[in-house]
Amino acid sequence: MARPIIDNIERRLVELEKQLNEEYRKRTPKSREMYERALRVLPGGVTYHIRWFSPYPLYIVKASAQHVWDIDGNMYTDYWMGHGAHILGHNPDVVRERVVQILEERGSHLGFENDLAVEYAELLTKIVPSAEMVRYTNSGTEANMYTVRLVRAYTGKKRIVKVNGGWHGAYDALHTAVTPPYWGAESAGLPEENIKYTVGVPFNDLEVVEQHLRKRDIAAVIVEPVLGAGGCIPAEPDYLKGLRELTNQYDALLVFDEVITGFRISLGGAQEYYNVKPDVTVLGKAVGGGYPGSGAIVGIEEVMKLFDHIAISDPRKRSGHSGTFVGNPITIAAGYALASYMYQNKHLYEEFNNLWSWVKEKLSKECNTITPQCFATGLGSMIGIHFTEKEPKRHEDTVKRWSSIPYKVLHLYARLNNILYLTEHTIHFLPSMAHTKRDAEKLIDVIVQFLSLIGRQ
Ligand code: PLP
Repeated sequence: MARPIIDNIERRLVELEKQLNEEYRKRTPKSREMYERALRVLPGGVTYHIRWFSPYPLYIVKASAQHVWDIDGNMYTDYWMGHGAHILGHNPDVVRERVVQILEERGSHLGFENDLAVEYAELLTKIVPSAEMVRYTNSGTEANMYTVRLVRAYTGKKRIVKVNGGWHGAYDALHTAVTPPYWGAESAGLPEENIKYTVGVPFNDLEVVEQHLRKRDIAAVIVEPVLGAGGCIPAEPDYLKGLRELTNQYDALLVFDEVITGFRISLGGAQEYYNVKPDVTVLGKAVGGGYPGSGAIVGIEEVMKLFDHIAISDPRKRSGHSGTFVGNPITIAAGYALASYMYQNKHLYEEFNNLWSWVKEKLSKECNTITPQCFATGLGSMIGIHFTEKEPKRHEDTVKRWSSIPYKVLHLYARLNNILYLTEHTIHFLPSMAHTKRDAEKLIDVIVQFLSLIGRQ
C-alpha cells in the first residue's frame, strides 16, 4: 500500500484510539483500580503477559457459555474462551455437574491410581486416530517437554525440527524460532546450549524440512497442524502428508501439537480432518474439559512404551515422566465428561465448522474489499485477521505488516462493542459451540464497521 495512504489511515487510527481510550476508561473504572493494585503485586499487573492489553486489562469476575463479565458489570462475547480450552463454552452443565459429583464423592486429588484415568485413556484411544496409549501431564507445555524427551529416547537422536512461529509453551528446547529472526533463545535466562539442538523451519515448506532431515540426525519434526499463536494458519493440503512421508523416509518421528486443534477441528483433532497419523500427539487445553492441569501425550504403543517402568526397569533407559497432580480425578473427570459428550454428539462439529468457515469466508471478502491488504485466515473455529502485505501462509508473512496500529485499535474497538479476544498484537478468534449465528453476525458487523472507519479515503 502506498505510504501516503498508510499515513492517512494511521493518523485516523491514532485519533480514534484517543477517543476510544477515553470511553474505555469511563466504562471500566473498577478494572483500572484493580490494575493499579495488581501492579504492586503482579509483575506487569497480570498473571500472564499475553492477557495484558492497553491501557489496562479487564478483570473478569464471571463467565457463562459464550459470555464473560468484567468487574464493572460489562458483559462481553468471549472469543478467547480460556485460551481455546472451552469448546462447549464456559462452565457447561455436562462438565460442571460431573466435577461437583467427583469432588463430593472422591475429593480433589488422590495421588493413587484411579479408574477414571483408565476410562479416559480408553476413550482417548478411540477418539484420537493415532492414539494407542496415553500419559497425562499438567499442561500443554509439560506434555511437549516430556514428548521431546520421549522422541529423543526412542530414536537415540537429539535434534528437533520445529516450525517458525510455532508455539509449544515456554519449555527450553522449544522456546526458540517463535518470533523473528527465528533462532536463538526467546527468553532471558535460557542458555543457548538448551536450544542448540532445535532448528526452526518455515511452515508449509517441505523442501526445507527435507534439507534438514537429509543433512542431520533428526529425532522428530514437531508441528501444529494449524498454527495457533502464530496466526491461525492452516497446513496446506499436502503439507502434513509430506511430513509423514519424509519423517518415515529419514527415520524421524512425527509429532503433532494438537493443544489447540484437539477436540476443536474435529473430535479426533486436525489429524482426523487431514487424515494423517503422527507417531505422537500432544494434547492440552480442551483435553482437561476446561479444568486446570490439562495435558496429555498420546501415541503409538511402540514409542509410548518407553515410559513403561515394568518393561524398562532401568530408569536411565526409560523416558522419565512424573507429576504430583497427573491423573487427578477432577481434570480427568472433566475431560472425560466433555469428550464423551462430544463423542455422542459428533454431528455438532459439522454445524460448528460450517458456521465459523462461513464467518472466515465473509471476513476474507470484506477485508479485501474495504481495506486493501487485510486478510482472514483459519480453519473451522480458528480464525485470524492480518493487516499484512499478502495472505499469510506461514508466520513470516504475518509479521510483514503495513502497520501495527490497526491490531491495537481493533482490539479496543471490539471491547467497546462488547467483544473480547486476545491478543492486541495478533488476532485470534476461538469461538465455542455455545456461540450462536447471531454472535457470529455481530462479530462480522463490528469488524466491518471498524474496517469502514479506517479504510475510508
Ligand atoms: N502448544 C500449543 C499449540 C499451545 O497453543 C499452547 C498454549 O497456548 C501450548 C502448547 C502450551 O500449553 P499450556 O499453556 O497449557 O502449557
